[in-house]
Amino acid sequence: MLERISEHIWIMPKDDETDRPILGYVSGGKTSLLIDAGNSPDHISFFYGAVRSMGMPDPSFIALTHWHWDHVFGLSGSPAKSIASVMTNERLVLMHRWDWTDTALSSRVAAGLEIQYAADMIRKAMPIRQSFKIKSADITFEDHCGLRIDDIDCQILHVGGPHSDDSTIVYIPSESVVFLGDCCSEDLYLNNSMRLRELSPLLRRLETIEARWFIPSHGEPMEKSAFLSEMAEVEKIGKLVGKLTNEDQLAAQLEKGLGRAATEDELTSGRFFVAGNRIKPGDKKRLMDEKKANLYRGSDSRIDDILSEGFA
Ligand SMILES: [Zn+2]
Repeated sequence: MLERISEHIWIMPKDDETDRPILGYVSGGKTSLLIDAGNSPDHISFFYGAVRSMGMPDPSFIALTHWHWDHVFGLSGSPAKSIASVMTNERLVLMHRWDWTDTALSSRVAAGLEIQYAADMIRKAMPIRQSFKIKSADITFEDHCGLRIDDIDCQILHVGGPHSDDSTIVYIPSESVVFLGDCCSEDLYLNNSMRLRELSPLLRRLETIEARWFIPSHGEPMEKSAFLSEMAEVEKIGKLVGKLTNEDQLAAQLEKGLGRAATEDELTSGRFFVAGNRIKPGDKKRLMDEKKANLYRGSDSRIDDILSEGFA
């Protein structure tokens, strides 16, 4: 159930069925660190079962890579001390007030606070959610947080990037491993958009990190060079897309730049960049307000409070 990556690191692989991300586990022998809490109390319980069956210690700490539900819902199923960036935790504190009933979820989808894909997956991953509450973090940090797991130095670094501005990575130098969370992916909460001005600086920073294994949450562990050359392809597509905002012209523009027809993957990346070009700074709030105006007011009485606090 757990795959060994290095001397002191294991992972529980992802499961796309209910959008379970990879869970990382660093064990120093007596103390241990879990990377991400998983998509439900069931997910983290499954992880505890696997760790115990291998005779290894329960996690002492949990580092969260970002606020998205599939990485944080499991927190309430663990007594471990959780660590998150201030930015991540601000969202968890707000989300702690939310209900997760079908009605509340639908209201938030209508208000643009939740996306349909996540709502569908939440329903599938956690059929019973009547009394479910999100837990916020026990320990927060602004930019980076160092942690010693027995003799193993672990660094939690805020990196931001296109997926979510609160993205952090967990770097374990002595094991030559980096857990990337979803930091290099598109922003699912902003029209599946990707912006070069967020991706390129992140890639330049990742290039400087000395590690053999790069582990994206919803993929497989990859050698650093393989991961970065895949991302270089995505970045190249972003450059070819340039300032294009019309998706109808995407295939022709990529063909011109590549000297051949674009593959499906290249077109998909291209669409993320086109979506990114269509969102101007400040538009996040305007999009939220538009959705608010169209809001179908469901029976979640707190939806007004939630909207007034904002969540972009
Ligand atoms: Zn995510």
